[in-house]
Amino acid sequence: MPQNHRSGAALPQRSTPAAPKPPARRVGKERKLEPWSALLDEGRADERLVREAREGPGKARLVDVPLALHPEVLTALAGLGIERLYSHQAQAVQAATEGPTIVTTGTASGKSLCFNLPTLHILCEQSRARALYLYPTKALAQDQARALNAFGLTKRVRPAIYDGDTPRESRADIRRNANVVLTNPDMLHVGILPNHAAWEELFSNLAVVVVDEAHVYRGVFGSHVAGVLRRLRRIAAAYGTYPIFLLTSATIANPVELAERLTGLDDIALIDEDGSPAPGRRIAMWNPPLTDAALGARRSALGEAAELLARLVREGARAICFMKSRKGVELLSRLIKQDLEASGHPELAKLIEPYRAGYTSQQRRELERRLTRGELRAVITTDALELGIDIGELDAAVVVTFPGTVASLRQMWGRAGRRGRGLAVYVAGEDALDQFFCRHPDEFLDRPVEAAILDHESPLIFAAHLLCAAYEGPLDHGDAEFFGPRLRAQTELLLSAGHLRARASRNTDGSEAIGRETYVLRNPGAYPAAEVSLRSASPDTFAIVDVSSGELLGQTEAARAHSTVHDGAIYLHQGRSYAVRDLDLRHRRALVAPFDGDWYTQPKRETMTAIERLLDRRDALGVSLSFGEVSVTETVLAYQRRRLSDHAQIDLVALDLPATSFSTQALWFELDPALTDEPATVASSEPGTEGGSVADGEYVADGSLERAVPLESLLGALHATEHAQIAVLPLIAMCDRWDIGGLSTNLHPQTGGPTIFIYDGHPGGVGITRTAFQRFEELCEDAHRLIAGCGCADGCPSCVQSPKCGNLNELLSKGGARLLLERMLAATARPPVGTAVRSDAPVQTPL
Ligand SMILES: [Zn+2]
Ligand SMILES: [Zn+2]
Repeated sequence: MPQNHRSGAALPQRSTPAAPKPPARRVGKERKLEPWSALLDEGRADERLVREAREGPGKARLVDVPLALHPEVLTALAGLGIERLYSHQAQAVQAATEGPTIVTTGTASGKSLCFNLPTLHILCEQSRARALYLYPTKALAQDQARALNAFGLTKRVRPAIYDGDTPRESRADIRRNANVVLTNPDMLHVGILPNHAAWEELFSNLAVVVVDEAHVYRGVFGSHVAGVLRRLRRIAAAYGTYPIFLLTSATIANPVELAERLTGLDDIALIDEDGSPAPGRRIAMWNPPLTDAALGARRSALGEAAELLARLVREGARAICFMKSRKGVELLSRLIKQDLEASGHPELAKLIEPYRAGYTSQQRRELERRLTRGELRAVITTDALELGIDIGELDAAVVVTFPGTVASLRQMWGRAGRRGRGLAVYVAGEDALDQFFCRHPDEFLDRPVEAAILDHESPLIFAAHLLCAAYEGPLDHGDAEFFGPRLRAQTELLLSAGHLRARASRNTDGSEAIGRETYVLRNPGAYPAAEVSLRSASPDTFAIVDVSSGELLGQTEAARAHSTVHDGAIYLHQGRSYAVRDLDLRHRRALVAPFDGDWYTQPKRETMTAIERLLDRRDALGVSLSFGEVSVTETVLAYQRRRLSDHAQIDLVALDLPATSFSTQALWFELDPALTDEPATVASSEPGTEGGSVADGEYVADGSLERAVPLESLLGALHATEHAQIAVLPLIAMCDRWDIGGLSTNLHPQTGGPTIFIYDGHPGGVGITRTAFQRFEELCEDAHRLIAGCGCADGCPSCVQSPKCGNLNELLSKGGARLLLERMLAATARPPVGTAVRSDAPVQTPL
């Protein structure tokens, strides 16, 4: 088969044995008995099931295979048993003839056919044509190479994988002969583009570029890939080709924008009407029961998930379960096995497997076969491997704790739906976003997925790719076609920093061509691509080395090293825990060893922000809201060790580290005195609220109160507001709360008043806070609802406490934050206040 088994319309008969029948059980007359019926009944009764929904089933929209396709492609399709196409596949074939296209249909909707058919058509029509396929992981490239080979067009189509594992001796042959090169952005960046002369055959005939799983390219990684794709277009143009770009993505809020930002092209066609048959899927949001309402403590999501999965397996379902950490995966697998053994099913306990990192695609296929045959009943995996999994569909998909984005959750849920019906479960954790969703389940289910944000002009990233481009060929002003209008300004900066030098161009008569300088690297021996990692925003990095194996695990930006890999830190890498033995500042590396203990660490930091450049400002919700560049200076003072099981503090260990600083993008807002000092009139005039008071940090809604007392702890209110805003920011922009930093102060030296800063945690920033600046009203509404809806007394991990607070969650006023946000939201209707006060705020604009 060219891809997964739902790729084509006419499905070959699968030799799947029927699932064992669940034991007969009387559950109402009408209901069709599913393996999960009884479980859902119980969850409904004890209210752990906070929301259910149904999706589908939807009918397939089938259309004829476009006859314009090359006859050999038509024959190959017929050979695969594909007689008709899903409507979106046929649309993609058409769109690809017209221009760049992005396809965003659901999981298992046969997306690969959308780019494979146009590509195969071109390769059959033009014997010299070449295609380049980009995959974020090696395993996915292997899957796709196999899918291409399955068409059997061996005379016309010669796919080859070119990545770090490709043997040296085959490389020259691939460069010359392969007409579909499957690689990853890192290899394209460091291996292919800088050596374009060796790839002349590819670039001179490059007809198609496929970017699969494009939603992965966001944030820092996405900003880099945008630079790489611009370089790719530039090199292709130098060889006289203008390839067509075909992208696919999981469902996101802004597919066209993502495609435009990634490629730098306009007029991207969008194909988002899914013509594949949606399975009938039940969706269940499951919240572990409260164990202490005042503290907001709940039964662990892990224990709850283990019980659910054991139950599903006993009832005959085949399930996949996603979890964030590998440790959690191991633990959960063990708990399920124990549950099955204890309930008298030791034979089933053997059919539970944790899915480990580093599986090859053969091993994954073996896993798939075992699942399909029923030799395995449940696979437990980390969400880091979500993309690498190609195990078709199962009865149930259980996602334990929010995976970070709704888009990703939906993709995981998409695994449920074997033979037309499935169960998709989300087991909430205690984190703020998890509990926010449990309190607003309707909205959660209807919520548009997030936008994927990237910024190819993020200063450090932009500069890095211009240097790489200058190595690949002298830059000139005409390259603005690929790099955009800011090319000139950025080139000037690189000239003055001594990285580039200008070289005069000569006219044909040998005279100097005025105004047509080109720019080349000042150091001719440099190989800039080798210095640029696509995964970090800044070239200034620390290496992370596992001393037990000598293996280089990865790198971390220098700006984050002190807080993430200080001595004694527990560091999470691909779901696995490591303890830092030594942070070697001089050699810029952290030595780590695998860690098995039951605690984690949280750094205590002192942070300062200085406004460097104001880029945008507006009045919103009664505050003066700004966006610009800031420098963040941070000193990591100590770290706290906390127990994993109950988050209890074990101890606080002092550190002696120098301050670090970096520049990034931020939004900040300055509070009008009316919002903080004299709230009586503001609070009582709020539409839709009943006035309120803050007493001992507890908010008391009481309509009889004539006036609201002043915020009792301004700083606590600011701090809690900032936490809540950071917690809900991922709802707007696809990012992790760990990518965002914040600072609250009741007196900022530059603004002269109480100010909250929210900044991009990566040097240079990648556009996340710009999006938050534009959608500030939504951010405040969500933050308010996060706080107002939480039943705890004084703040808990489900509302204002943050797992990454540099102040260790001290000085937080839940009631104060609620009041402050209520006043801000009430201010919407009023004219902007205090503009006169702030127009002369001491904002420095040094540049
Ligand atoms: Zn709470
Ligand atoms: Zn904090």
